[in-house]
Amino acid sequence: MFDKIVRDLAEKAQENSVTANNEYIGKDGLRYCGVCHKPKEQFLGVSLYFPDGKVPSECDCDKAARLKMEEETKLRKAQEHLAELQRHCFTDTAYSRHTFGQDKGYNPEARKVAEWYVDTFEERCQKCEGLLFMGDTGTGKTFFACCIANALLRKGVAPWVTAVQPLLRDLGDFNRSSAALREIQSTQLLVLDDFGTNQSGARNLDLLFEAIDTRERSGLPLIITTNLSPADFNNPPSIELKRIYSRIKKMCLCCEKSPVIMDGEDIRELAARTAHKS
Ligand SMILES: [Zn+2]
Repeated sequence: MFDKIVRDLAEKAQENSVTANNEYIGKDGLRYCGVCHKPKEQFLGVSLYFPDGKVPSECDCDKAARLKMEEETKLRKAQEHLAELQRHCFTDTAYSRHTFGQDKGYNPEARKVAEWYVDTFEERCQKCEGLLFMGDTGTGKTFFACCIANALLRKGVAPWVTAVQPLLRDLGDFNRSSAALREIQSTQLLVLDDFGTNQSGARNLDLLFEAIDTRERSGLPLIITTNLSPADFNNPPSIELKRIYSRIKKMCLCCEKSPVIMDGEDIRELAARTAHKS
């Protein structure tokens, strides 16, 4: 009788022995969680490493905390991976900030085309269909070209976005030209920003032709932003530019949605002129 009272008291004491972590010892001698009341250890038989036969196990709170941590780690790794891709894909960090989420809605038509391009990229790729964003400075052509690249990046496509001037510098540099050409040849989507400014001089035109020609031969799509007008493209000032423009037209004006004219003032006139592109 006395033994039973002592035993009961001891069990009661064990059960109520809340530890620093809000744990207590249950009737079975195992540690229990004071929050979810699930065991934090289990009997697995006595072994060298567990002389009392108890091994730790997760209560519901532990499991939830572990899953949350795993989720956070996964998210962090995905963000790091994206940042790494962005470093590779955008030669200028400003490009990586241009996303559909940042769109102010000034040009819903251009946005529609950009989203269509992202949504149908596989088909655009197969048909080697690029886009030509035309307009004056500040009309958002770079923005939407980069929106496409950023959205595709998040879908696992690896685009490469560069302005023409730094590309020409790389192509003209003995140490960097082969890497630049490799990128032009292999990137799933090449975006050439700011085409048409200061591209003069025989050397620059040669390099530009090499870049455009290499891209055409790769059979992969090209997106160009330019402040040149459709009329400029139809009236190249030199033989060198004529062969460059003709390749660009072939790659970037082969679908009905291109060119994307970003200048509100002359849309109809420009579109009419583009309709007669040669
Ligand atoms: Zn718990």
